[in-house]
Amino acid sequence: MNVLVLNSGSSSLKFQLIATDLDRIQRNEDARLLRGEVERIGGEAIVTLGKSNGAHQTLTAPLRDISAALDFVIRWITSDKSGLSEVRGPADVHAVGHRVVHGGERFSESVIITDDVLKGIEECIELAPLHNPNNIKGILAVRSLFGAGLPQVAVFDTAFHHSLPEHAYLYAIPYHLYRRHRIRRYGFHGTSHRYVAYRFRVLRNVTREQTHVITFHLGNGCSAAAIRNGDPVDTSMGMTPLEGLVMGTRSGDLDPAIVNLISAKEGLSAHEVEALLNTQSGLLGISGLTNDMRVLQAELKEHDDRRARVAIEVFCYRARKYVGAFLAAMGGADGIVFTGGIGENSPEIRAQICGGLEWAGLTIDPERNKKMVGKEGIISSEGSQLAAYAIPTDEELLIARDTVRCILGEPHPS
Ligand code: AMP
Repeated sequence: MNVLVLNSGSSSLKFQLIATDLDRIQRNEDARLLRGEVERIGGEAIVTLGKSNGAHQTLTAPLRDISAALDFVIRWITSDKSGLSEVRGPADVHAVGHRVVHGGERFSESVIITDDVLKGIEECIELAPLHNPNNIKGILAVRSLFGAGLPQVAVFDTAFHHSLPEHAYLYAIPYHLYRRHRIRRYGFHGTSHRYVAYRFRVLRNVTREQTHVITFHLGNGCSAAAIRNGDPVDTSMGMTPLEGLVMGTRSGDLDPAIVNLISAKEGLSAHEVEALLNTQSGLLGISGLTNDMRVLQAELKEHDDRRARVAIEVFCYRARKYVGAFLAAMGGADGIVFTGGIGENSPEIRAQICGGLEWAGLTIDPERNKKMVGKEGIISSEGSQLAAYAIPTDEELLIARDTVRCILGEPHPS
């Protein structure tokens, strides 16, 4: 089955075309065919296209909305230019899997998109006003281009965290606010946490029920999940992706009274303060330089920049605190996994987070850690009680697999 995986943002559309079926999933032999991205939709868009394991071309095109961007991508996929013999026309795209950010309390797993499901995704707009509307636009664009006959599946960022117990998801605010407005912790990056937890159990040769692991997704957005018996029992992100770890531009946890204080002192509205906490804070806010970890590390190395150093220190310290908190929350774990742009690629940050965790039975092997850049493998030392791994995430693969399983009515074991 050729599955088109789509991630529709406010001005961007990312896609992958993956050929997979139950047999290929079983053998872990899904074929990644094409990938690409359209950025700056709404004006002169920048389009990057190519074979998944080959060279990419970049071009520009005036694309006014997601529908136009998708039309452009489909034409390219089905033309000679893609160099793909498997896909000759739209009929050779057999299904579409969408990343949908918020599934609220209703969606605990991936589902085939019906009118009723679409309505459910619409009802979650108030929980994710910046994301769900774009995801819906992507779904509608596929419907109008391919017709309603093409199966579409929604894979939710929140779904994996559905197992959070009440004591982990409730905020200690008046209960009627939860009942009236569904104010609670939902958690995000669920597909990424689920994927790396699945890879962890494959690498450790244990069952889903035997999977006790803390997963760190450290990219521009950052979150951690405490996974016990294969299911999350806690996670760092909350009602929105602002809570939890320090991120590229987001503050993560802070005293809520600060919002009013910044508002009064700086003459900003509550909305503006929220935007400041989402877009001007985190690594960027502390360093005053950038949200990009690689650049911060270079600044530290080349210029011994004090604020770059302290930004990195706060980032690592706060992540380390979550290791301790989650070990307590889940009654101990067998391992820690690092993923996301920083988690997959920065041995220095991994070592800094894990530094001083020997009391918890974790020792990093410097040689193993150094080697594991952009690839999957163990980074802790032989005798480490708590194993540590770097595992590149692959949300698109999981979306493609869920799409196939949903269409064939199979359960989602990972
Ligand atoms: P993501 O959102 O997963 O694409 O991750 C983006 C973040 O990963 C940015 O802060 C990048 O600087 C960071 N990153 C990517 N490669 C590296 C690297 N080799 N070393 C440190 N950080 C990296």
